[in-house]
Amino acid sequence: MQAALRQHLGGARWALRVSEAALRPRCVGPASPPAPRCWSCGGPVPGAAGLPHFCPSCRALQPPGPRPDLFRLMDCDRSFSLDVQRLQRRFRSLQRALHPDRFGQRPPKEQHYSEQHSSLVNKAYQTLLNPLSRGLYLLELNGVEPAQETDCDADSEFLTEIMEINEKLAESKNEDSLEETETLIKVKREELTKEVTAAFERDDLQEAKKLLAKMKYFANLEDKLKNKKMPS
Ligand SMILES: [Zn+2]
Repeated sequence: MQAALRQHLGGARWALRVSEAALRPRCVGPASPPAPRCWSCGGPVPGAAGLPHFCPSCRALQPPGPRPDLFRLMDCDRSFSLDVQRLQRRFRSLQRALHPDRFGQRPPKEQHYSEQHSSLVNKAYQTLLNPLSRGLYLLELNGVEPAQETDCDADSEFLTEIMEINEKLAESKNEDSLEETETLIKVKREELTKEVTAAFERDDLQEAKKLLAKMKYFANLEDKLKNKKMPS
């Protein structure tokens, strides 16, 4: 019962860690919506909406819900400044528990669910790890239109800077000058990441959107740089 209470209070806790007893249906009041049914045995599967969970009766892995909150899935606060180590720990533990190799002896349907969960966990990890995609996802959650590169059209100083780095990149013929440009891009991206952090902390979503649009330019520059560095 204590486990059930803990699960109830710590909504973000991952259901797989909770003992099976805690997942058995509890007495529910008349106002509670009926618990979803297990695809395998038809028994009720209470709680843990949006998180990977197993049926308390037959232990079958349940399908992922529609559009789960990636922050919740990864057990991270919904915030731009993210505890990367926490994210990585959670990623590894989910990856282990849901890996399709573990479901080799299970029915095809369950194997399919484990693939779906695994790819969702990968997507959540990549989205939250990268500052640009994390910021864009946060804007989306807040109902802000996606940031476009045209959002910084008015900032001629910024556009000139990008043009200059582009030229530098085009002219870079040797390792040394490429590395110099790489460092420059890295420093600029780190500066922008700090500014985005501050904008989200102030809850200034429009400013965050503008800064993320700038970050997109730098992400493109980084892609160009990577292509250039690839051995021909
Ligand atoms: Zn079941």
